[in-house]
Amino acid sequence: MVCCKACYSLKIPGTWLEFSDLESSVSHFVTESIEWNSEIGKNTSNLILKQLDPQKFRVNIGCEGDYQGLLLDANLKTEVQIKFQVCQTCSRLAGGYYEAILQVRTKRKEILNKAVEEIYNLIDSGPSEFFTTESGPVRGGYDFQLSSTDKARTISRDLMVKYGGHVTETNTLVGRKDGRDLLRHTFGVRLPSIGVSDYLFLDDKVWKVLRIDRRRTKLIMLSSPFHQKMVEVDTLRNAPLLDSPLEVQVISHRNSEYLLLDPFTLQTVEAISPKDWKGNNVLALRYGIETYFVWD
Ligand SMILES: [Zn+2]
Repeated sequence: MVCCKACYSLKIPGTWLEFSDLESSVSHFVTESIEWNSEIGKNTSNLILKQLDPQKFRVNIGCEGDYQGLLLDANLKTEVQIKFQVCQTCSRLAGGYYEAILQVRTKRKEILNKAVEEIYNLIDSGPSEFFTTESGPVRGGYDFQLSSTDKARTISRDLMVKYGGHVTETNTLVGRKDGRDLLRHTFGVRLPSIGVSDYLFLDDKVWKVLRIDRRRTKLIMLSSPFHQKMVEVDTLRNAPLLDSPLEVQVISHRNSEYLLLDPFTLQTVEAISPKDWKGNNVLALRYGIETYFVWD
């Protein structure tokens, strides 16, 4: 059998099969090599492996099968000689191979951290031929060298759908192979500095970000008359973002008249809930020296 010496993948015609260790790779090879009579049903095989040296295993195989209602068994013994090579994935990884560069840019650190963590999760949970040879923080964002252009494109698109922003794709010619141009793709993903559920201060009011659709965002005003509006994300560049809201303790209430404890000043405040308010959470946001209550 031919096996990758770095990752124990087994070479089969046309591709490499992944295994977590050498024994699993050998077991698969042996099991697949057993030739069964075509009239045998319910066939099972049990393997006992013994490693004789780094490239040799002795294998005992207990075989059982049903032949026209008769249970038959047989014991086989064999030795497997392993020839080690390096699979395509491992040789690319060792050679620093990459097809695409993914550049994530945003002015907001929390959003960058979230996006970077998501990209690493996608790489870790993806097939082994999808990997990053080099990645790390750069000024204004984070760069990944990736082994697959298609995956880099999918990730860029998914980030844009989730966070808004936009993607640019550029190519550079890096050589020729078999008469074809070899291109390296660079995906520049620019994410906005606001995210869904952020609170911001605009025109003397507190607004909440309901959703982001590429370069546009839908906001709702958190006080009467609770307007909603779509705006270009870029126009919010100078709108102050507010810290996460704190929960407010309701001291007492009668109908729509409430006595609240301001969590920032620890003073009691009289407030009127919005008409027909049926929520059960009151939140508080601070901007400057003012506390804003949100009837959630
Ligand atoms: Zn390998």
